[in-house]
Amino acid sequence: MTPTGTAHGARTHPVIDLHAHSTASDGTETPAELVAAAAEAGVDVLAITDHDTVAGWDEAAEAARVRGVTLVRGIEISCAWRHSSIHLLGYLTDAADGPLALELERARESRSTRLERMVALMAADGIPLGYDEVLAQVGPGATPGRPHIADALIANGTIGHRDEAFESWLGNDSPYYVGHYAPDPVRAVELVRSAGGVPVIAHPFTRTRTGVLDDALIERMRDAGLVGLEAYHRDHGPEEVARATALAGRLGLLLTGASDYHGAGKRNRLAENTTAPEVFEALEAASTGVTEVLRSGTSSP
Ligand code: AMP
Ligand code: FE
Ligand code: FE
Ligand code: ZN
Repeated sequence: MTPTGTAHGARTHPVIDLHAHSTASDGTETPAELVAAAAEAGVDVLAITDHDTVAGWDEAAEAARVRGVTLVRGIEISCAWRHSSIHLLGYLTDAADGPLALELERARESRSTRLERMVALMAADGIPLGYDEVLAQVGPGATPGRPHIADALIANGTIGHRDEAFESWLGNDSPYYVGHYAPDPVRAVELVRSAGGVPVIAHPFTRTRTGVLDDALIERMRDAGLVGLEAYHRDHGPEEVARATALAGRLGLLLTGASDYHGAGKRNRLAENTTAPEVFEALEAASTGVTEVLRSGTSSP
């Protein structure tokens, strides 16, 4: 890989951020705004990875071309494992792949029903909120999620930031929590692979998780075609990074890093964690090439 100098200073390596959300799911910026924010932040390679959807891909692709940002089109699939939710990043999948598209559609459907049930439970307990207010927060064709309930509570003046809603009403342990359909993580890895893409577990050891993501499961996911672990992430401290590093060494997995940016919806900032160029190269090489990395401008690695 050729070291790249850019207008952003004396850096010799491209800045690669492989996990970010737009209004196609629970980010607060449109795909075009997300790409613009990435360019502003000095990101050379950005992955758009909305929850359970590719709806933001085309707009992001157009903006990336204009802004000179290299774009990796991806998704973040919510998976169900015991009582926990595991997030699987899938890079460069074929958007037209039937089995994967069907699975994502099923998840989005179930997410709508589930939000409506959560709002009903909250309203019955006197929390001032209507489902129509929540729907008003979900972008057209976007994947609905708990953050949209939080956004409705911000819009009607109940709270000031999404965090407050997650601390009080929206957390996994909340009495208002309702789950949604989500695939098994091993099956999700198989789906991403058979759609030509590259599966990487997002923030595998997030501390809010109840601790059931065990090594044996990751090993089974590896056997199904898992390629990497997102080790460098705001939700991981030194212990989690060490655990991911040891596991990756043992199982032959790549280690990635990314921001998991959600615009104003989360405190995560673009490029706060990044992926090494040689790891990015290996990720790209692991795809079948059915969906290509969109290289633009002079800043591409
Ligand atoms: P859901 O997809 O409906 O299960 O909601 C999970 C999403 O909520 C995650 O993707 C996060 O982006 C978001 N989230 C979780 N905790 C918080 C928090 N404390 N503040 C803001 N967003 C959060
Ligand atoms: Fe999210
Ligand atoms: Fe996630
Ligand atoms: Zn994410």
